[in-house]
Amino acid sequence: MNVYDGQRIAAMLEKHGLVQTDNVEDADIIILNTCAVRAKATDKVYSALGRIRRAKKDGALLGIVGCVARESGADAFKRIPELNFVLGPQSYHKLPEILKNPDTKLLNIDMSGLEKFDELPQMTKSPLVAYIPIQEGCNHCCTYCIVPYTRGRELSRPFKDVINDTINAAKTGAIEICFLGQNVNGYKYTDEKGKLYKLSDLIRETAKLPEIHRIRFTSSYPTEMSDDLIEIFGQEPKLLPFLNMPIQSGSPRILKKMNRPDDIDAYKAIVKKLKSVRPNIQISSDFIVGFPDENDEDFEQTLQIAREIKYINSYSFKYSPRPHTAAALMGNQISEQIKSVRLQRLDLQLNENQREFNTSCIEQEMVCLFEGNDKTGKHLVFRTPYMQQCIVDKPDYEITPLQKIKITDANKSCLRGEIIK
Ligand code: SF4
Repeated sequence: MNVYDGQRIAAMLEKHGLVQTDNVEDADIIILNTCAVRAKATDKVYSALGRIRRAKKDGALLGIVGCVARESGADAFKRIPELNFVLGPQSYHKLPEILKNPDTKLLNIDMSGLEKFDELPQMTKSPLVAYIPIQEGCNHCCTYCIVPYTRGRELSRPFKDVINDTINAAKTGAIEICFLGQNVNGYKYTDEKGKLYKLSDLIRETAKLPEIHRIRFTSSYPTEMSDDLIEIFGQEPKLLPFLNMPIQSGSPRILKKMNRPDDIDAYKAIVKKLKSVRPNIQISSDFIVGFPDENDEDFEQTLQIAREIKYINSYSFKYSPRPHTAAALMGNQISEQIKSVRLQRLDLQLNENQREFNTSCIEQEMVCLFEGNDKTGKHLVFRTPYMQQCIVDKPDYEITPLQKIKITDANKSCLRGEIIK
């Protein structure tokens, strides 16, 4: 979501005649687009602001947008007096106001709606992968999560608006569409005639666009995996055979405390249904270890589900108490030392899964999407349909953005391959 927001902020400022620079010292306006999901991310924002306020040139505008802006509000100006603007994730389209009135302090952390989508300019050139938000906010209220506070209650964008964005992305260079939302598969929009649209309708409509070859979506909530959405994995080949469906913990007791779906058998049944319609589908998850009151037995259940589902490409974190959340006030907070040990053990399991899956790809041929050059400039980096990184030697001929690649080698973190001409 922040990548999308960053692209839109850049497009908006370009319309006002600004160009991007990588040098803080050259910039007339410096914007930190921020994430508040973990305490460490918020801390990093403030330490970066401390560095930037010393490095920036006199008169340059400095501000934060996104979830830390929403979390901090006016306090941000107290902590960093040099700040000129603080704009929440639903109000960063107000940014041009600070260009008109650079001597004011601009604060807007309103959560009132999706008005920003009407105000943001359309992209005139899209990257190969276009991120398209279809809904914002979340109603699930997991007890550890600050998102319902920073991004607000769940709102789905009108079907027509999303499809217009998708068509525009396709016409301006996108090959892959990634639908975004904090609770992306909870997307539901009823139009003026009373017709209900769901994520499966967006996928079906987008797949009709000849320019679009790959479709994916993130992040999914397990119990929102409705039958129509599961079935479309078997019907629509452009939908990638890869799904991030976070379980967070393998312990029903901890899931209950997290206010997450705690029926592990129901979760497994969804995976089974997905595999029955798309046998090659692979699943990834997010995990939190060291949630308040998590004991050794709970943690063993997390290891067990990681082994059983054989998740690939998962994200694992130590629980981090966040303001405005119920879990931060719970008793039996787990020590950092225990969290670290559990994280290490879980990562060993997740890495083993990933290595095993990557190795199983050797000798396979996959159509992969060009991502860029590697740091040496001697290799090209592609993304497989399972979102693995695949490195190939740079050929001496022009390549197209989609290439058939034969996988020749693999380790835990990436694949090696050869382009099939
Ligand atoms: S479903 Fe995701 S975004 Fe929503 S509250 Fe839970 S963790 Fe946060």
